[in-house]
Amino acid sequence: PLLDQFLMAAKETEYKAHIVLVPLMAQGHIIPMIDIARLLAHRPGVLTTFVTTPLNAARSRPAISTILSSSLPVRFLELPFPCSAAGLPDGCENIDLIPFPDTEDIDLLRPAFLLVKNFFFGTALLRDPLLSLLRQQHPSPTCIIADVCLPWLSDVAEALRIPRFIFHGQCCFSLACYLSIHLNGLDRTITDETQRFLVPGLPQPIHVNKTEAPGFFSMPGWEKLRKDTIDAELSSDGIVLNTFNSLEGEYIEYYEKTLGKKALAIGPASLANRDVSSMAMRGNKTAIDEQQCLNWLDSKDPRSVIFVSFGSLALVKPLQLMEIGYGLEASGSPFIWVIKECEKWPVMEQWVAELKERTGDRSLIIIGWAPQVVILSHVAVSGFLTHCGWNSVLEAVSAGVVMATWPRNSDQFLNEKLVVEVLRIGVRVGGKPPSYVAMSKWNVVERDVVEKVVRSLMDKGKEGEERRERARELGVKARMAMEEGGSSWVDLSRLVDLASVHVVNK
Ligand code: UDP
Repeated sequence: PLLDQFLMAAKETEYKAHIVLVPLMAQGHIIPMIDIARLLAHRPGVLTTFVTTPLNAARSRPAISTILSSSLPVRFLELPFPCSAAGLPDGCENIDLIPFPDTEDIDLLRPAFLLVKNFFFGTALLRDPLLSLLRQQHPSPTCIIADVCLPWLSDVAEALRIPRFIFHGQCCFSLACYLSIHLNGLDRTITDETQRFLVPGLPQPIHVNKTEAPGFFSMPGWEKLRKDTIDAELSSDGIVLNTFNSLEGEYIEYYEKTLGKKALAIGPASLANRDVSSMAMRGNKTAIDEQQCLNWLDSKDPRSVIFVSFGSLALVKPLQLMEIGYGLEASGSPFIWVIKECEKWPVMEQWVAELKERTGDRSLIIIGWAPQVVILSHVAVSGFLTHCGWNSVLEAVSAGVVMATWPRNSDQFLNEKLVVEVLRIGVRVGGKPPSYVAMSKWNVVERDVVEKVVRSLMDKGKEGEERRERARELGVKARMAMEEGGSSWVDLSRLVDLASVHVVNK
């Protein structure tokens, strides 16, 4: 009967696959999943359904509209998030809306940490409503691509009797490190967070300490989510990765072999956006008109600009922001600097105005959301001072841009290692990670360090040029991977095949 149902549905709509994408409600997860929806929708016979909560759907409206206006077969479904039942303030539907006080006092920060926990655990309240929503869909879904942070999606896929792929929004290098550390028991046996150790069995000798490789949900009190995540991955039908083969093929191979699962590398997903307007409409509404940004960039020499942004979540405090600003000013390079809406501390207002005054047309300071991919893709941009969120790193790689690396948490330290040690397309800022156990504070990185790093990244000497050349080559390879017949194109075809035939095979 399942086969009849499937064939009937397929005949009715002429779709061979109906793939459902469900991201964690955070910009670093929603944005690449919308890009993947766009990629899938270009494949013949594929219907894609993207599910998120009303607030996130409203934020993504511009991106959604560009997809819908091209008549691509993508459905957007809204699923209300019961915030108060989850122990969250009303409307707290995205991690970036969890209020963090401006303090380093751990006791004052504790309520915010509790909200983060409530957020992750509370997503499970979406399980039953999502199942009913998907049961009402015609044609019936044939596959779910499940964010790794939502392990309860395995119950939904099981109830619908369809395959489920885990989407990891991070690089395979970091996944390989976590896997090796876990399988070799080093996450349990090594107790000193600062002890450096070799990650066994990787294609290259990689040394880390525990603060740099914390693994999934490794904080005390999060054990259940960690276990559920590992179980959900082990019981999945395969892994979907936003990366590409010529970037980290050896690590993809290691991961597949060690985990015993097919890993499909289908990125860089951001390259699904081919025109400036779709590039500009990723994530939130931008705080600057993209044309204004382009005009400023057009007025600068090729490869002369440094772009500075710390993604959607990492919060930079006033003292540190000022040191960054002074460092950029002293570096002599033209710069675009993004200060987040939540970093508009009162003390910053006058200070930013004075910096603008002093640097004039050499600086473009964006307060709020920036059209990051538009900026990185412009020929005037040469360097990116980044917190090393995986999307940001991959967007820089796709644009052939070198990086100054300043990781803040989770997988970002390993992304830095990939960029600096493996790919050799970055220089370290050298901020020390705070201890997770002692909950120690961030050390402020001073202006002369920022200046020195920017100067070294933008340097036109032999070392700098070689670094830039390696980055440029990777950018070319990234685009080749996404073209018809390229490795990511082929892996996306495999995904579509697996999503299409599975019901028939069951
Ligand atoms: N982003 C953007 N404008 C901003 C800040 C971020 O477009 O002002 C996008 C960025 O291009 C990337 C995502 O938001 O696609 C951030 O994801 P990432 O993994 O780099 O970092 P996270 O925010 O998850 O820490």
